[in-house]
Amino acid sequence: MLLIGSHVGFKKDTQLLGSLKEALGYGANTFMFYTGAPQNTNRYPIDNDLTLEALQLMKEVDLDYSKVIVHAPYIINLANANDEDKFNFSVNFLTDEVKRCSLLGIKYLVLHPGSHVGIGTYNGIMNIARGLNMILGKYDVVILLETMAGKGTEIGSKLEEIQAIIDKVDDKDHIGVCLDTCHLSDAGYDISDFDYFLEQFDKIIGVEKIHCVHVNDSKNERGAHKDRHENFGFGKIGFDTLIKIVYNERLMNVPKILETPYVNKEFAPYKYEIDMIRKKCFDDELISKIVDNK
Ligand code: ZN
Ligand code: FE
Ligand code: FE
Repeated sequence: MLLIGSHVGFKKDTQLLGSLKEALGYGANTFMFYTGAPQNTNRYPIDNDLTLEALQLMKEVDLDYSKVIVHAPYIINLANANDEDKFNFSVNFLTDEVKRCSLLGIKYLVLHPGSHVGIGTYNGIMNIARGLNMILGKYDVVILLETMAGKGTEIGSKLEEIQAIIDKVDDKDHIGVCLDTCHLSDAGYDISDFDYFLEQFDKIIGVEKIHCVHVNDSKNERGAHKDRHENFGFGKIGFDTLIKIVYNERLMNVPKILETPYVNKEFAPYKYEIDMIRKKCFDDELISKIVDNK
């Protein structure tokens, strides 16, 4: 069954129940959320009543909670440990985040591997693995390393880098990968022949490690290293390639998550994009329909 959703909010007063209702409003059957604002560390205590109410509603609508994803905040950077305080902050905050996922019953947490900020890819990879080894194994949560665009000194724009991290992680059962189509294209990978890409991925990392796919189009040409997401089918990757990825047999049970931009920074596109993805038919008037709210 196709598992399609988007990132949704997580608010203090409604928490998981609010996230779920937002996702259902988009016609989604899965979703991803941040446990607070992605850019900061303000986090509210988890309200167990709201969690239970959400779990009950998921049962009623038959939504598979085991595939619902949390995304860690961007401020975590395990790759640079020159400033020991900053590194410890990242380790501690990520540990808290894993604990929050565990409290919520969430199995998969997506993490940007980090930026080495000048100390080199090799040292960055060693730091990331060291940080992960301080965190993994305490809770039954799987950290998914996201494939990155290669902006600045980001680590994880090459599959070999992701594999090098996984290789150095002790607890292999709790480490996996999240593909991001915008990032893969920006990193230089040709995903137009996605079966071929997956064959390469399988040789380097192993397809069974993929537990989430961010299905974003890109504003930029392949190899641009920019990381600017575009609405589904409206960027340089294009509808046909993205739809083949969404419906790829080998990733059929893996949730597909939209992180496409709001239209005019105001209108959530997800209901429309999900509808278009289900119909498998590109609608070049989609953006104007979103603005007109048709
Ligand atoms: Zn991300
Ligand atoms: Fe992403
Ligand atoms: Fe991105």
